[in-house]
Amino acid sequence: MVCAMTRPPLIADLRSDTVTKPTPAMREAMATAEVGDDVYGEDPNVNALQNELAHLTGFEAGLFMPSGSMTNQVAIAVHTRRGEEVICAEGSHIYEWELGMMAAFSGVVPRFVPAPLGVPSPEDVRLAVRRSVHQSPTGLISLENTHNKAGGTVIPLAVLRQMRAVADAEGLPLHLDGARVFNAAVKLGVDVREITRCFDTVSVCLSKGLGAPVGSVLLGSAQAIRQAHRYRKMLGGGMRQAGILAAAARVALREGPARLADDHLRTRRLARALVEAGYDVDLAAVQTNIIYARLPEAERRAAAWAEQGVLASALGHDSVRFVLHHQVDDDALDQAIRVLTA
Ligand SMILES: *Cc1c(COP(=O)(O)O)cnc(C)c1O
Repeated sequence: MVCAMTRPPLIADLRSDTVTKPTPAMREAMATAEVGDDVYGEDPNVNALQNELAHLTGFEAGLFMPSGSMTNQVAIAVHTRRGEEVICAEGSHIYEWELGMMAAFSGVVPRFVPAPLGVPSPEDVRLAVRRSVHQSPTGLISLENTHNKAGGTVIPLAVLRQMRAVADAEGLPLHLDGARVFNAAVKLGVDVREITRCFDTVSVCLSKGLGAPVGSVLLGSAQAIRQAHRYRKMLGGGMRQAGILAAAARVALREGPARLADDHLRTRRLARALVEAGYDVDLAAVQTNIIYARLPEAERRAAAWAEQGVLASALGHDSVRFVLHHQVDDDALDQAIRVLTA
């Protein structure tokens, strides 16, 4: 650990889009938020946030939770029974970065389908459905849009609609890990509903690119959300005067989506600068606000950049991730590019 006093001035924190600090408007909303006990359903800001997001995405109801991992795992619990399989794209957050919780909490296991650039094929998903008495039956199909580990890549609408058709034909529920679904909507140039309407439940993070300090919302039918209440409580996610958080999240929801296009432009600019400087970046995978570069000695390089005020995530020993967000402006990006390409 570097002592805080000796740390260089921060130029850009590109480790994740979760690192943003609440804006003055969010601080103000938090300080003045009317609150109530949300476990009794009495917090006006939580209720308003859930309703606003449900309206935006075309669902009957929503449920505020502390994290996207919790909204995903609650959705899995709602849709599945013990011993079933969840079909998901390789590299899916619900398995890769949620600590085996689908097994630990819901007693289900993942069945992966290949997903070049984060996009599984509907036919592969259909073929992965299992029903025989000798196999663990499929309980759920789960997609991720944008796909984090594939590089913030987007599933096209045509594929989403085919996935819906597969789910309908097989009688299976379809969940979206939409932590960054607003980034996907911006990239596709469509209203977010065009994406969310294909799913039975959608999990949305307010604390990624939208910029809220904390929180995610699970969206679904009134019945699904009634069940979700029970699992949220089991996981310790009943948060009482959570309106302080929801008030900030409501500001994020109002102001965040319109800013994402700028994040995507800056991401392209950084990716091109990295490629020109000889970095190994697959530009086809750079579609929204995330860049992965293959880089020998990634940890040592990231530590050296940190000494100069640019933070990135070293993942394993040969890969590094850069994520853009609204608190890296053009000026900060120029300075960061100088450090990264020196
Ligand atoms: C960040 C993220 C989540 C949720 O992460 P939390 O840290 O639990 O909020 C879920 N899915 C994807 C794809 C993510 O990137």
